Amino acid sequence: MTICVALRAEAVAVRRGTRTSVTRVGMRAVRTPAPLPGDGPVAMLGVAGGVAPQVQVGDVVVASEVRADGVAVACPSAPLLAGALRRAGMRVHVGPIATQPKFADRDALALLAMTGVLAVDMETALIAAAAGDRPFAAVRVVTDTAGARLARPGIVRDGYRALRTLGQAARIVEQWAAVAAPREVRLAAPRSFCAGVERAIDIVERALDRFGAPVYVRRQIVHNAHIVASLEARGAVFVEELDEVPDGARVIFAAHGVAPTVRAVAANRRLDVIDATCPLVAKVHNEVRRYAARDATVFLIGHHDHEEVVGTVGEAAGNVVVVDSEAEADQAVATDPDNVAYVMQTTLAVDEAEGIAGRLRRRFPALVAPRSDDICYATSNRQLAVRDIAADSDLVLVVGSVNSSNSQRLVEVAERAGATAYLVDDAGEVELSWLAGAERIGITAGASAPPYLVDELVHCLAGLGPIEVHEVASVEENVTFTLPREVS
Ligand code: SF4
Repeated sequence: MTICVALRAEAVAVRRGTRTSVTRVGMRAVRTPAPLPGDGPVAMLGVAGGVAPQVQVGDVVVASEVRADGVAVACPSAPLLAGALRRAGMRVHVGPIATQPKFADRDALALLAMTGVLAVDMETALIAAAAGDRPFAAVRVVTDTAGARLARPGIVRDGYRALRTLGQAARIVEQWAAVAAPREVRLAAPRSFCAGVERAIDIVERALDRFGAPVYVRRQIVHNAHIVASLEARGAVFVEELDEVPDGARVIFAAHGVAPTVRAVAANRRLDVIDATCPLVAKVHNEVRRYAARDATVFLIGHHDHEEVVGTVGEAAGNVVVVDSEAEADQAVATDPDNVAYVMQTTLAVDEAEGIAGRLRRRFPALVAPRSDDICYATSNRQLAVRDIAADSDLVLVVGSVNSSNSQRLVEVAERAGATAYLVDDAGEVELSWLAGAERIGITAGASAPPYLVDELVHCLAGLGPIEVHEVASVEENVTFTLPREVS
């Protein structure tokens, strides 16, 4: 790799952090050799002025793109690098860095801030251009801002700290460069949103459009941190319980469903309820009610504390026994062994759930099965699809949040198929070390993870070298659900 810096002090700081030789290009990059020395990735490191108000002295800015004279050069792998720097304890921003021929005054900084620029320097765009097709990254540590100009008391101390941070960042930039390589990316299909999740998000968005903010939502509408954050930004207020919702307000029940007691509380409080429970979860609730009406013991195969399971149990708490594992199936007790049935959480691993059902069947020959599969089409299809890419992948990345059951199951299915697999909320959570030696990367996403996060991850990998992207289609999906009347 090639590391470029402008100033002598920056070169000293970077050399402390890396073994890579450092090329001093001088202020305004006037001493940039042509071509740049070495091969492989190029990184521009140094200090810079902070432009955007959220960028403070001592913060690190990783360029998502580099701008100069109306031309922008993208740095696609910025989120990967930024994630690694954050895990090392640095406060990191990802966004555009602008290169200017001279020091920017207050007015120029204000103008740049209005265009979304985070930091300004005098060299990065020139080095990005000189890098050509080589993977490129720019990392700048902020020494001054509009409110903390260079000529100020404390600049020596702040400058020294910035250079120390720069040295630490250089070590991580070296790790970024070490995983730059051409790759094959295999995308599982189907992946990402299911019909139930699309419907739930649509319900919140339409409620916000129709009734205005705030719209209260009990629990996360779907288990994905990005979706929750974006709906919050639009005016949705997520609460744990209904006592956080003002009397008479509008509240949406999340896709995972609620127990009848929650509905009763909402009715007593005269809350205006819109139910975003997935119709396939509602189907399992109906089954439980039907079996309980015959006074059967209902084994609910699922995870004890998962929201969907808690809601389903609430339909007939006296009749339902949650069974989380084959060991629990061996111990499960029924009031009348001849009057027993089972249902499943919709987002389980198909093979594991079948194993548990098999144990119950052996112990209770009269066990009644659901009329149709409880594990929903989206869960089974995504598991099938990830299995199809796992065997031929050196690494499988599953995009999804840690509280997403179906995303977690995708990791387990990929592992059982022989792959090394990790769950990541977004590209920033991909650890650089995972990419070492991974030439074929499989990517999928849980049913609650938005498709754009997969696109961003692929884009990031493209910033580490040329990639060939193949979609491996396992099943076609065309399921849609209708909206509740309140928002249709
Ligand atoms: S994963 Fe299945 S049950 Fe859950 S919301 Fe999607 S379609 Fe409905």
